[in-house]
Amino acid sequence: MRCDNHTMIQYFEWYLPANGLLWRRVQAQAPALRRAGIDMAWLPPAYKGADGKNSVGYDVYDMYDLGEFDQKGSVETRYGARADYLAAVQALQQNGIAAICDVVLNHRMGADGTQDVLVEEEVPTDRNRDIGDPQQIRAWTRFDFAGRGGKYSAFRWDASHFSGTDWDDAGKRSGIFRFLGKKWNRETDSENGNYDYLMGADLDTDQPEVIAETHAWGKWYLDTVHMDGFRLDAVKHIGFEFYRAWMEDMRAYARRPESGGRELFLVGEYWSQDLERLLHYLDATERKLSLFDVPLHFNFLKAATSDGNFDMRTLYAGTLTEADPAHAVTFVDNHDTQPGQALASFIPVWFKPHAYALILLRSTGLPCVFYGDYYGIPHDAIAPVPGLPAMLKIRELYAYGEEHAYFDDPSVVGFTRTGDGDHPDSGLAVLLTDSASGEKRMYLGLRLAGRRMADAMGRRSETVTVGDDGWGTFRVDGGSVSVWITEEAQAELFTRLPTGA
Ligand code: CA
Repeated sequence: MRCDNHTMIQYFEWYLPANGLLWRRVQAQAPALRRAGIDMAWLPPAYKGADGKNSVGYDVYDMYDLGEFDQKGSVETRYGARADYLAAVQALQQNGIAAICDVVLNHRMGADGTQDVLVEEEVPTDRNRDIGDPQQIRAWTRFDFAGRGGKYSAFRWDASHFSGTDWDDAGKRSGIFRFLGKKWNRETDSENGNYDYLMGADLDTDQPEVIAETHAWGKWYLDTVHMDGFRLDAVKHIGFEFYRAWMEDMRAYARRPESGGRELFLVGEYWSQDLERLLHYLDATERKLSLFDVPLHFNFLKAATSDGNFDMRTLYAGTLTEADPAHAVTFVDNHDTQPGQALASFIPVWFKPHAYALILLRSTGLPCVFYGDYYGIPHDAIAPVPGLPAMLKIRELYAYGEEHAYFDDPSVVGFTRTGDGDHPDSGLAVLLTDSASGEKRMYLGLRLAGRRMADAMGRRSETVTVGDDGWGTFRVDGGSVSVWITEEAQAELFTRLPTGA
């Protein structure tokens, strides 16, 4: 049984040990995750990367090698063997948790051989401008997968399947090299003139063999793993029409009775703070997927790094959660934003509980909890976010009913949920501030009239009794967040939380 309020966890961070044990950890932890209130888990890329067992998974080498073939120095991937992966997905599903698998279709890395190809070199910051005349480079574009020996697919990649690369192995130099006769996808992000090219050997998603092969692979992946959905990597670098058609095909394939009549959940990573670009992508792909709410992440970052001077009324300005909540996956941090990574923009510790209260307890957006926030990040001595297990459980049990929002003050903002008849003792009030302490009168509805509320975050020790008119006045300490639930809910919560949480 899934939860009434869906909650996803991103079940990895960048610096997990390369010990081949993550898939077994997923199996072992699945019951505890479901008890914690989580019913969707996004797993990292499961196929062999160019860096073998050290690969986090985004440097894709062979998408048919789920830890089964002796390639790139090992049979296992960083996370384990194919059998462990399949068992992990099953364990999640048996515990009422949907398995969301990572799909990286933009590029390939770790080629088996080079080819001499004619290219146009492009200005890195304007990929529509050529530098000089066409030239020949030696590109890593031959993928033979000798270690797999043609099992599952006889397809071999060569330069004809790629649009460009960034390394000339003859001249030993890097650049942005577009293969002669190839065009960048017209409909990608417009940063750098055209942002089709990201890294490695870039798939030419206009090429008929590439289209056929990526569709065939997707169906093989669905048939092999029986997952419930996909997280799509780097969608702004991939032709929008290509991905629209691919998603349509995968959705139709999964819906067939022989595939179990599954309705796939799809979420894309379009890394941009610009809401208009996100909305344009949703339009271009006919809203076949959700997108991570990147603007909201950056609003959190601004709020957390403005020394208490952020205007909290604008927390949701320019966010997908505000513009199209049905297609917004909200998150606080991820494997790219954590310290040391490419898009490092980690939300400071003091604001993490604020951010999680906002994504977990409001009615809008589907929240995704980061592994590194849930368990901590030993590599950087980062502790788990305090109060996160309590907020997850509050989301599952009590975050129901109408929402009344009070984003009406530059510092102290809050919201309430009125609760509903299906969830005993449900309803809550949240108050948070980026600077000084304060108070706010908020409406919780007549269902909660006369009920005594207590702060589940343990910051405030008083109780607040909701008036006969359904209103209550709540306080919050400086720089903190308080989450008020009924005393009965509070008592129940204590019995349900894992020890030490
Ligand atoms: Ca691309």
